Amino acid sequence: MRQTHLFTKTRKEAPADEIAKNAELLIRAGYVHKEMAGAYDFLPLGLKVLNNIVRIIREEMDALGAEELFLTSLQDPEVWKASGRWSDEVVDNWFKTKVKSGGDAGLGFTHEEPLVRIMTSHVHSYKDLPRLVYQFQTKFRNEARAKSGVLRGREFLMKDLYSFARTPEEHHELYERVKAAYMRIFERLGIGEKTYPTFASGGTFSKYSHEFQTVCEAGEDLIYVDEKKRLAVNREVLTDDVLRDLGLHRETLVEQKAIEVGNIFEQGTRFSEPLHLTYKDESGGEKAVQTGAYGIGPSRVMGTIVELLSDEKGIVWPVSVTPFQVHLVAIPGTSGARIHKAADALYDALRKKGVETLYDDRDLRPGEKFADSDLIGIPTRVVISEKTLDAGKLEVKDRKTGAVSMLLESELIESLLTQTVAFSM
Ligand code: ATP
Ligand code: MG
Repeated sequence: MRQTHLFTKTRKEAPADEIAKNAELLIRAGYVHKEMAGAYDFLPLGLKVLNNIVRIIREEMDALGAEELFLTSLQDPEVWKASGRWSDEVVDNWFKTKVKSGGDAGLGFTHEEPLVRIMTSHVHSYKDLPRLVYQFQTKFRNEARAKSGVLRGREFLMKDLYSFARTPEEHHELYERVKAAYMRIFERLGIGEKTYPTFASGGTFSKYSHEFQTVCEAGEDLIYVDEKKRLAVNREVLTDDVLRDLGLHRETLVEQKAIEVGNIFEQGTRFSEPLHLTYKDESGGEKAVQTGAYGIGPSRVMGTIVELLSDEKGIVWPVSVTPFQVHLVAIPGTSGARIHKAADALYDALRKKGVETLYDDRDLRPGEKFADSDLIGIPTRVVISEKTLDAGKLEVKDRKTGAVSMLLESELIESLLTQTVAFSM
């Protein structure tokens, strides 16, 4: 994409009321727009990043054999009354509205109830199980505090997967497979090293739930990390009993602030019983289905990456989610026509090889172009200037390390294609 075709502009300052680093940088670089507290618009660059995050999660969900669907945001009060979650006393962050023909509708903050009800039309026998079903869907939560930028939206994107199993044993197998897929997802998203499976409070049907917590100063949670075992305990369950149960010791735990990027729950028959999701087993007996729920917030992940990997100059995207693989910056100097001709040719060559490129063809001073490039955070910057043309090479700068090398076009393309291979599945 030519940067002259990109309608978004960078800006020096974020809105005065924006205090979260992730939103500040994302707004300044033109990835998101703040509509109001807890509500962010994803602009073209932001949507590209979000879609990359979604693609990686989708690939791992599909690899599990999960089936994708898309449920409506509008919620029927009846099914939520049946599970006991319609009341504002039980769920304190509902957005609810009136419908014209009379009655209420909710805006989904999660989707167990409608999905379990759907499954009652399709699951009848032990032969219909197990199943994994997921979606990417906008969730609405009337969060009390929305000061963390895209980390905590009142409207946000969630990937929610649900499992349906015959027995607790079968459920456990699915649960462990999803847990492993989650770690692969966070690794591919570039935050694997800082992300720990974390024991957190369970519900009626399980002792614990598992959170995936990414160690980060901007986090709202406090976790206690056992680095050797690569797991953690959320403060909310940190007691001597729990530590003994998990075989952990206070002396080896390190307190860290962290962002919850994912959360997985065992639900037993919490939803299947009230909503009558049952199946006939091999001997004809009627049994309640065992369910589990598994969430990841792609928009929160995007904010987490920004919080973790940015530096004083701006954002630093991992190759796996970057909006463009290369930022091609033309510095026309005194021989504009010659430079633009060479840059246009390289832009075409990169596109032909399938390398997604943002081409800064704007008529701006070099200092402004480089500052924008640092702020936008594309991992590889390629500069074409009089100096590089005279040398018959390209100046290639790594956004993360700042390392500069002079490469032939063929060497550049080879290294970019190697990157692409390394980051596909
Ligand atoms: P939190 O404890 O941070 O409020 P939660 O435990 O309510 O989150 P879940 O209901 O388990 O979150 O949601 C699944 C995932 O959705 C979370 O792990 C997180 O990645 C994401 N998520 C939850 N709430 C928000 C939000 N307000 N904005 C953005 N992402 C969110
Ligand atoms: Mg939580």
